Amino acid sequence: MYVIFFGPPGVGKGTQALVIAERYGWAHISTGDMLRAHVKDGTALGVKAKSFMDQGLLVPDDLVIDMFLDRLGRLRADQGFVLDGFPRTLVQALALDTALASHGKAIDLAVNITAPDDVLVERMMGRAAESGRSDDTPEAIRTRLEVQKPPAELLDHYRAAGKLRDVDGQPDVETVTSAIISALGVSAASTS
Ligand code: ADP
Repeated sequence: MYVIFFGPPGVGKGTQALVIAERYGWAHISTGDMLRAHVKDGTALGVKAKSFMDQGLLVPDDLVIDMFLDRLGRLRADQGFVLDGFPRTLVQALALDTALASHGKAIDLAVNITAPDDVLVERMMGRAAESGRSDDTPEAIRTRLEVQKPPAELLDHYRAAGKLRDVDGQPDVETVTSAIISALGVSAASTS
């Protein structure tokens, strides 16, 4: 099964994506993790991406799409995946659709995890102390909240296809996981 997790920064989609990927044996693809690895390794992409990330801005589509498609191309054909942090724009979503369609495949479901801004700020500030992330400064956190909520046109792309499910991200981790599992439905349990 091919699943996307949407949500604003701080909503816990990374945590949930890890748990769900492990539960079903799916690949967990986090473009944030991939970009942080590039920054750490000092690759050409990492050098370009770092200034955007540190400001809380999106990394330009062409850079992220190339990196993502390369990762997608190295997946086993029979393995499902959870996308965490990609697509973040409609342009990225269309690139994803095209890549999957060329193998006769498509996204099955998009889970939109939501929470009010004050909850998100509190969580990100709480995480900042221990994350060691250079984009967990109060200013970058504010910018991420302003510019990185999934845009309406992106959610509408999946809603129009009947593939979007909303999940409340406010309760504790286990409760949110259960809500996601029921949103995924029986098909998740029976597919790879
Ligand atoms: P968060 O934990 O705040 O949701 P991520 O770990 O997903 O953030 O991503 C960290 C940073 O990496 C983002 O602030 C952004 O600069 C960049 N990034 C990650 N994924 C994408 C993407 N699909 N498009 C553009 N930029 C991205």
